[in-house]
Amino acid sequence: MRFEDQRQLLVKELEYRGICDTAVLKAFAEIPREDYVLPEYREYAYQNRPLPILNQQTISQPWMIAIMLSHLKLQPTDRVLEIGTGSGYQTALLASIVQEVCSVELLDNLSLGAQKVLKAAGFKNIYYRIGDGWQGWEKAYPAYKSFDKIVVSAAAENVPEKLCEQLAEGGVMAIPVGSGIGQTLYLVYRKEGEIKIQYDVACAFVPLVRVNGRA
Ligand code: SAH
Repeated sequence: MRFEDQRQLLVKELEYRGICDTAVLKAFAEIPREDYVLPEYREYAYQNRPLPILNQQTISQPWMIAIMLSHLKLQPTDRVLEIGTGSGYQTALLASIVQEVCSVELLDNLSLGAQKVLKAAGFKNIYYRIGDGWQGWEKAYPAYKSFDKIVVSAAAENVPEKLCEQLAEGGVMAIPVGSGIGQTLYLVYRKEGEIKIQYDVACAFVPLVRVNGRA
């Protein structure tokens, strides 16, 4: 079956599994996941599962990405911070919906690889930072201090303080939290200056690596 047809089937599967945010479904219908997986996994690009990328990392499961992005209630005017660029697939989904995406990745080869694919795809609303996601967008260009939405694609032992600080008033962050094999998806809201956490589904992500033991 052609990739394009497989892509539409994946969208149907996401709908069947309860995803109903039309902007998210449209993004899944448009972004070619086969461009973001390793060549040897291209034929599996539309299976609803994570796949290996370089450096023992994974491209996230489409359904889990869809759940996280739906919770963010993305708007065309949003500025989004993404932690864990990885393959760049989720970055592309985000950038097709919102105004600007700022994406942080710890590993330079993954970031540079993703940048290449995303630039070739024509995205001009993405900024990249190679560095530690626990610090968020600190010391990065453009010097944004806060974000309407934050999405973290790796599991943290706790909600990073810097990310809470960088969450705009009225904003929401989706982040897997837990130190074991399985974690819980946390939805972190900032309302009237206060941080509120809502616990969502169980999930399984690679760890959000601690750099030099800093939190
Ligand atoms: N959304 C990506 C997920 C990649 S897996 C995709 O679907 O392709 C998670 C990514 O988080 C990996 O690329 C990993 O290198 C990165 N990562 C892990 N710890 C990090 C940290 N402290 N700061 C930034 N990125 C980190």
